[in-house]
Amino acid sequence: MAKKYVYSFGGGKADGNESMKNLLGGKGANLAEMAGNKDLKLPVPPGFTITTEVCTYYYKNKKKYPASLKKELENALGRIEKLMGKDFGDRDNPLLVSVRSGARRSMPGMMETVLNVGLTEKTIPGLIKASGNERFVYDAYRRLIMMYSDVVMEKAAGIEPKEDMGIRKQLERIMDEVKRQKGYKADTDLNAQDLKNLCARFKVKIAEVLGKEFPDEPMQQLWGGIGAVFSSWNGKRAISYRRIENIPDVWGTAVTVQTMVFGNMGNDSATGVAFTRNPGNGENEFYGEYLINAQGEDVVAGIRTPAPINAYSTSEHNKDLVTLEKTMPKIYKELYSFQNRLEKHYRDMQDIEFTIEKGRLFMLQCRVGKRNGPAAVRMAMDMIKEKLIKKEEAVMRVTPAQVDELLHPIIDPKAELAHKPLAKGLPAGPGGATGQIVFSAHEAVAWAKEAKQVILVREETNPEDVEGMRAAQAILTARGGMTSHAALVARGWGKCCVVGCSSLHVDNDKKELHIDGKVLKEGDWITLNGTKGNVYEGRLTMMDATEENTLLNDFLKICGTIKRLGIRTNADTPEDAAKARFFGAEGIGLFRTEHMFYGKGSDEALFLLRKMIVSKTEDERKKALEELFPYVKKDLKGTLEAMDGFPVVIRLLDPPLHEFVPREEAKLQQLAKDLNISMKELADRAEALHESNPMMGHRGVRLGVTYPEVSAMQIRAVFEAAAELIKEGKKPHPEIMIPVVCDVKELQDQHVIFKQAYEEVLKKYGLKSITHMFGTMIEIPRASLVADQLATVAQFFSFGTNDMTQMGFGFSRDDIGGFLPEYIKKGILPEDPFQSIDQAGIGELIKIGIERGRKTRKDLEVGICGEHGGEPKSVEFCHKVGMDYVSCSPFRVPIAKLAAAQAVLKEQAASKKKK
Ligand code: ADP
Ligand code: MG
Ligand code: MG
Repeated sequence: MAKKYVYSFGGGKADGNESMKNLLGGKGANLAEMAGNKDLKLPVPPGFTITTEVCTYYYKNKKKYPASLKKELENALGRIEKLMGKDFGDRDNPLLVSVRSGARRSMPGMMETVLNVGLTEKTIPGLIKASGNERFVYDAYRRLIMMYSDVVMEKAAGIEPKEDMGIRKQLERIMDEVKRQKGYKADTDLNAQDLKNLCARFKVKIAEVLGKEFPDEPMQQLWGGIGAVFSSWNGKRAISYRRIENIPDVWGTAVTVQTMVFGNMGNDSATGVAFTRNPGNGENEFYGEYLINAQGEDVVAGIRTPAPINAYSTSEHNKDLVTLEKTMPKIYKELYSFQNRLEKHYRDMQDIEFTIEKGRLFMLQCRVGKRNGPAAVRMAMDMIKEKLIKKEEAVMRVTPAQVDELLHPIIDPKAELAHKPLAKGLPAGPGGATGQIVFSAHEAVAWAKEAKQVILVREETNPEDVEGMRAAQAILTARGGMTSHAALVARGWGKCCVVGCSSLHVDNDKKELHIDGKVLKEGDWITLNGTKGNVYEGRLTMMDATEENTLLNDFLKICGTIKRLGIRTNADTPEDAAKARFFGAEGIGLFRTEHMFYGKGSDEALFLLRKMIVSKTEDERKKALEELFPYVKKDLKGTLEAMDGFPVVIRLLDPPLHEFVPREEAKLQQLAKDLNISMKELADRAEALHESNPMMGHRGVRLGVTYPEVSAMQIRAVFEAAAELIKEGKKPHPEIMIPVVCDVKELQDQHVIFKQAYEEVLKKYGLKSITHMFGTMIEIPRASLVADQLATVAQFFSFGTNDMTQMGFGFSRDDIGGFLPEYIKKGILPEDPFQSIDQAGIGELIKIGIERGRKTRKDLEVGICGEHGGEPKSVEFCHKVGMDYVSCSPFRVPIAKLAAAQAVLKEQAASKKKK
């Protein structure tokens, strides 16, 4: 039998179902589910879906279709005709259809849809007779002409008009002109004759601009629409959206052809979009918008302000409009029960499209709704309580990026109180953002490249703006509702966004923004509160929002019960350590000793360190170290205390010494004086420290080998700090880490010093033991290869993946800017290996290191302390290779925690699949 390319749905049955997204696209699969599943059986206008395989075929075969498609399509169309009792192209009772796109994953607004296909000079009179509504028919016809000429005759034909000269824009201008002449405000004011005249003018314009007649044959319209949807898969904006969202080009789109139902048949008709829960904050309340006497695209396009479906959905913006619950109570009740059924069935928040035709409700789409970070966490937690999902599912429902969103800044409430909002719009994307105004997506991208913070301000956004929206800190629009394009896209990305700010007047030509008589120009600063919908003039102070979010903490606790990996933090100060503990860190994976010589209050310690560095004799150095000792000890004690009961990995002095040599004259003089040497002598000593390749020079363990007293002092400071804490009843747990090691003899050398310091401190404090470990950082490729030997001395390994990547690739970390972007653009590397572990190469080094290390020492503790420790994909890798913990910056601890829990769940799912 030939391959099946067409799947029908409707009339209580469906060939496909929800699980067939790869073949039918998300939209097609869910339509089939809604129409055919016995628990749902929702009123879905009948139709059929042409599979994504046809799309792939189409692109592989010079835009031709498989031979069997035509027949299959005709059969499926015949089935609809029978169900509806109408015929496509029929003179008396014509069937109209929509041609809809739909990929596996939703790509909102990125591909095309054509409505009202099948209206021609021949079928128009029939539809007028059947509907008894001439105005409606010509409204449908003018929509068909506008969409079809734009999507099929222009875009799919590869015509690229100049800015603002697209056929659709030109037709819209004609329509606006008529409205102006007649003094109409809304599209709905146009009467039947107006619309009829408009259609005639449209056709003339199309022939003039595109040099082709608008097709007057139903089948030609249908195939034209189908071809255009397939072509839109490779349209510019679909491609750029796929790049951003990492959607593979080979997936292709499906095409759904579906019986039209009409929300534009009068005041007993409507169309709308709703969510089973509030996608902006996650509250379990039915939420949505609708428009009376309109077709679907009007809601999203923001042509009229949609009305709230119920009191809960009412906002500042639409509070004067009547709710669906009030105007059509029975329909609302029905819709409410449908949404309930859908959410129970899918066990997740659904985003639904509906249309009401003359008092009858139809469902046109459902899908798992996009949500921002705060909403994702709230829904996950609520659904556990409601017993809708298990905790494991809840953990998989929230992405690391969504958790990241919750860690993003908000406007400092105090600053916000002190300012009056300049304008108010709808809160479409949470959090706060401040930036300089730009008026086009293009400028947003260009300014962002210069490291400027911008806010993209538009009348309304459209899919062509996505890259600019991405580059901007936030988005502000004058038109559109909570389901407008801007709101949809921002929500998906968790970006701060305010839409439908109607007091805004955007003058693109002058690059000006007018708000209540105030004029703001390109480059002026504004601040948005996307949670409230407020717009402020100027640059308000931002702050971190996490400390107030108890829901996130509860969610992370659940993650904690699932994950296997420990999550530690990289912290160099007691304050950082405390913050990380608040976020749930289970220890410090990297304490960089050298950081105590930078920042607030480090002057004295830094001076003493410098003195030690430029010391010439061992005596001089020992004296300097003795003076330095109390500072080091105090700092270590603070951090060990903040992490009481948890392990703290303390890395001994790592950077090349010359980094600490002062450059300012005054400092040099003071140093010379203190050391009792001449300036010339000091200059000579500093000069001697100069190296050609300091990053690969005299640093790390090499310092400890050449100046054992430097290691001795640090180790003694660690143990004395710990001993004092023990005396105070605390439980310090230091782990001493030797950096830049490449051979076991280096470790043996340091171990002798370590042993001696340890014994001395025990004796001094009269203690039997101090809990501790001695280990090494693995950051030089050779270290991984000789890990079996290193593990004879080291009790733990910590992979320093920053340097490991640098030395494994031979890429200087500080110089990658010159070539890495090109490498990624050309696909030589899939991504920046300094951000996500290169699993093929550096990952292999890590695996070898762990394997060989554990062969020698079974209970070897293994962790990672590079930047990668907080990057979700790398965390999953660390889990898979059997590390004990990851360590990352305090703010990434929650992200790492979630990623670690998800790694466990993914592994379980994969092993189940295998069985
Ligand atoms: P998108 O993927 O961009 O949302 P859709 O295929 O969902 O595109 O269609 C755009 C709009 O047209 C939606 O509001 C949808 O509800 C409406 N629509 C699509 N098909 C029909 C139909 N058969 N009858 C009525 N409205 C329709
Ligand atoms: Mg849709
Ligand atoms: Mg290093």
